[in-house]
Amino acid sequence: DREVDHATAGNLLQMVDAGEIRVRVPAYIGLDAYRSTGGYRLLQSIRDGAVTTDGIIAMLGDAGLRGLGGAGFPAGKKWGFVRSYPGPRLMSINGDEGEPGTFKDRIYLEKDPHRTLEGALIAAHAVEAERIYFYMRDEYPAVLAILRTEIAALETAGLVEPGFIELRRGAGAYICGEESAMLESIEGRRGMPRHRPPYIAEVGLFGRPTLNHNVETLWWIRDIVEKGPEWFAGLGSPDHPGVRSWSVSGRVKEPGVKLAPAGVTVRELIEDHCGGMADGHEFKAYLPGGASGGILPASMGDIQLDFGGELAKQGAFVGSHAVVVFSQADNIRDVTLNLMKFFKHESCGKCTPCREGTEKLVTLLKQVGPLPESNIRDLEMVMRDSSICGLGQAAPNPVNHLLTHFRSDL
Ligand code: SF4
Repeated sequence: DREVDHATAGNLLQMVDAGEIRVRVPAYIGLDAYRSTGGYRLLQSIRDGAVTTDGIIAMLGDAGLRGLGGAGFPAGKKWGFVRSYPGPRLMSINGDEGEPGTFKDRIYLEKDPHRTLEGALIAAHAVEAERIYFYMRDEYPAVLAILRTEIAALETAGLVEPGFIELRRGAGAYICGEESAMLESIEGRRGMPRHRPPYIAEVGLFGRPTLNHNVETLWWIRDIVEKGPEWFAGLGSPDHPGVRSWSVSGRVKEPGVKLAPAGVTVRELIEDHCGGMADGHEFKAYLPGGASGGILPASMGDIQLDFGGELAKQGAFVGSHAVVVFSQADNIRDVTLNLMKFFKHESCGKCTPCREGTEKLVTLLKQVGPLPESNIRDLEMVMRDSSICGLGQAAPNPVNHLLTHFRSDL
């Protein structure tokens, strides 16, 4: 048997058989403990009609809950779109947390899986979905073991019909975190993005209207309804309602998942939430949104991190809220090359600008001596304008920022 250790879990209590792999599972809140604090009461009152779907959609809108997987689309609006198309409908949950630097979903599911599962059942009820497909990355074996156990417990407790939540394992492809590629994978095909329109709200899984949510988006639903939308919105600022889970890593003293308002700056994350920079390191640069969101210099450390705004003007984005901090010990050309190698490896190969462009950028960045900047700029433009999906469109972001902000590292 192969043992998989989970470094973050100081409280390794149980060993659970997960197929052929024995997995160390951290202590987490199981079904009984979750129900003892009022868990699934909200679901019950929705099913009984005491709380209406329209009421919940309005609350999510007032709370300002956005999709927290990367795209940032308002959560309640999505439900309205999916419901507007004739059934039968389906739902998918994107647990393919593959963006480099992102680990928040894993932490939530390893601690309190039922908060996401209850949110999922509420959302499924709202759009009258016939089934939920939970797509979970295989690199999180403890989470898979937990979900298997807890979905079975829900079935035994009569809270869901057997088979209503179907767990699907991803196989390690970054592109399967893109929602339409994920649906292809669930349907049993190679994970490649679909052309849009039609959007998946209309033609999604198995050709049916499909509601797709990220793990964390669902995680907040119970709290927002029970504590009120003002509570969630109040955790942010007037311009940026709500709180976000930031996966912070790199050259900081205390990396980890940090709860901080939407629109926080990286300097605030470092100083107020991570205990400052690691000893001997000076803040030099950061990724505001994993590999795809670009690389910004420390001089832009006071930009508010949220969807749109100044960040978008800089050609960067916050995506799944993965912040990676670099110091004087890091050469940004090396960092960029590393990111481009990742994109080259993960490009699904469906369209030429991305398949060839990522490969060419790696070759150019590896070149010894000065970079052929005008060729790189041309390539960047072609990839951004003509790649099918976000991977190819965003892949040149780090190169753009390298040439714009880090000339001394060239
Ligand atoms: Fe595949 Fe890249 Fe084209 Fe997206 S942009 S479809 S990942 S080749």
